[in-house]
Amino acid sequence: MKPREISSYAAGQWIAPAAGARVIASAVTGAPIALAGNDGLDVQAMLGHARETGGPALRGFTFHDRARMLKALAQRLAEHKQALYDLSFDTGATQSDHLIDIDGGIGTLFVFASKGRRDLPDAHVCLDGPIEQLSRNGTFLGQHIRTPLQGAAIHINAFNFPVWGMLEKLAPAVLAGVPAIVKPATSTCYVTELAVRIILESGILPDGALQLVSGGMGDMLDHLDGQDIVSFTGSAQTARKLRLTPAIVENTVRFTAEQDSLNASILGPDAVSGTPEFDVFIDEIIREMTTKAGQKCTAIRRVIAPQGQFDAVISAVSGRLAKITVGNPRHQETEMGALVSSEQKADVLSKAALIGQDAERVFGDPDAFSVAGAEAGKGAFLPPMLFHCADPDTANHVHQTEAFGPVATVMGYRDLDHAIALANRGQGSLVTSLITHDTDVAQHVVSGIAAFNGRLYINDRDAIAEATGHGAPLPHMVHGGPGRAGGGEEMGGVRGVHHYMQRTALQGSPRMVQAVSGTWVPGTPEVTATSHPFTQKFGALTIGETLHSPARTITLDDIEHFAEFTGDRFYAHMDDDAAARNPFFPGRVAHGYLLISFAAGLFVEPNEGPVLANTGLDGLRFMKPVSAGDSIRVRLTVKQKTRRTDDYGEVRWHVSLLDQDGDKVAEYDLLTMNAY
Ligand code: NAP
Repeated sequence: MKPREISSYAAGQWIAPAAGARVIASAVTGAPIALAGNDGLDVQAMLGHARETGGPALRGFTFHDRARMLKALAQRLAEHKQALYDLSFDTGATQSDHLIDIDGGIGTLFVFASKGRRDLPDAHVCLDGPIEQLSRNGTFLGQHIRTPLQGAAIHINAFNFPVWGMLEKLAPAVLAGVPAIVKPATSTCYVTELAVRIILESGILPDGALQLVSGGMGDMLDHLDGQDIVSFTGSAQTARKLRLTPAIVENTVRFTAEQDSLNASILGPDAVSGTPEFDVFIDEIIREMTTKAGQKCTAIRRVIAPQGQFDAVISAVSGRLAKITVGNPRHQETEMGALVSSEQKADVLSKAALIGQDAERVFGDPDAFSVAGAEAGKGAFLPPMLFHCADPDTANHVHQTEAFGPVATVMGYRDLDHAIALANRGQGSLVTSLITHDTDVAQHVVSGIAAFNGRLYINDRDAIAEATGHGAPLPHMVHGGPGRAGGGEEMGGVRGVHHYMQRTALQGSPRMVQAVSGTWVPGTPEVTATSHPFTQKFGALTIGETLHSPARTITLDDIEHFAEFTGDRFYAHMDDDAAARNPFFPGRVAHGYLLISFAAGLFVEPNEGPVLANTGLDGLRFMKPVSAGDSIRVRLTVKQKTRRTDDYGEVRWHVSLLDQDGDKVAEYDLLTMNAY
């Protein structure tokens, strides 16, 4: 069969492979299946298209508009996932591997879509932290803001997750408003190309928001500037080379790297054979060794168990591995497919040989294993291989050599500090897991290893049923690790979006800061409401519009009635002498909840109108006690508006309760849903 031609998508055009193209072989049969690469790719035109067309178009939308695009993309990809599955088998991946790569990638888009609408404003600028008071009279303020970078995001991905790898980087970039040029690893780029075609054909993204390099990217990195960002996933060796590209160094181009790491899993001293924790420890090791044939950046490479337990661990893991069917990933009974290529297989074997200098292979013989439904000699098959390192203190390779395949090494520890020292010999990992039911063990180990890890995963009998797995990076949580793991950070909800934005310290008068931030700033000239703001629809409300309520005097009867009615008979409201002994009160005082209830009575407009529901209060603070005889009044200000659907939006009102002297007694933000 003629190999598929895998194209690039550059400056609005599909560019077929030409001079310099590489042949890609099936991981399963070794037969050539695809051709990708074109030395003539106009990489400067691609950068120009991203910067001049994609970026401005994306920045024309709000965060919420872009979040809606991500959701639509996720739905579109979900409709076509069978086609992606069909193609992915040739990478050596099984159907359960596809669930991680393809379904996991789509799930990541959905999470960013919902986080974008929940955690970011429906605006073009995102605020970072509260207003800073920089002057005595409040006429000069500070506010940190974030805005999207105005260059291109260059996403260079590893071969192992051709779909998830693209989407976990694309989602935060698009949400931030930055166009992406995606360069998948050549060996699996045919799957990424199909995903990109599905995305582009949907017409959901604006022109220039997404381009694709299939094959080499020529000298693109030599043309980057300080508004561009490179996000790399792959080997430490390539990362080192790329981050030293002169243009990247000289123009201080942001460069984030996710690279190989020697992740560990530690079995707690309490989690001995026979406990539920021991069983889950074994389950996690088996899953990490066999999923994607061990080609997972987060896979467990080092199994660190108490010295009295490592025999039991080796025996349990070996027993389970003996039952794993290695074979043709298209066959349902196959539990572990092939490595991505014969080159990758050779690389894993050479790394396993290095590990073999420090450790003894106790399971899996690469020269004698069976392969179901495929010819072992043609595909890139390997058996899972387990090593035992008897002296992990003097060994180096087991802590430093990543065999990116189904390979793990068991080592024993004397005590927890020894376990910590061994784990940290990885010199920075994406993830370490700790399997224990003992909270003291968890506290001790976490304080010893957290600085060396991007993620810590603790599993025990309470979490087993719902724990997501040692190796699963989640879009809500940061992914990346220090040192050896590359020093980068991705995802983590909106934290991942912030990497594509510049944080700027904005300083100016309240009126200026409000105009830029789109959020009410105290100290701006007051906009007096001409009618009750609760009678106005969402669109008619102006930021800063303020209503002043009449005053209400609080009586002792009110306090006693409230105490009886609610049952809140706390002494500060009921007993004058006891209250006076308390350093905060002059004597009996009104309940804080009474005050906010009266506040509602003072500002609410009772008739049916555009306010649909009160959805909550944020940041409630009681600042000055109120005694019987004092009066309160309310200042209600429109602080921020967020469109939620075509029918309604959320209004954030700033509420101040003031006493007869004009002092603030309480302050909070009130949230309501208002009809459009
Ligand atoms: P790799 O050889 O370093 O390649 C990674 C990417 O860099 C590929 O897209 C590759 O493209 C590209 N590349 C290589 N040389 C380049 C150059 N001169 N200019 C521009 N791009 C270049 O790594 P891999 O073999 O694909 O992936 C396996 C490694 O990735 C393992 O070490 C694994 O631990 C690590 N990994 C880390 C993570 C993580 O999140 N931390 C995730 C997955 C994998 P070509 O394919 O065209 O050469």
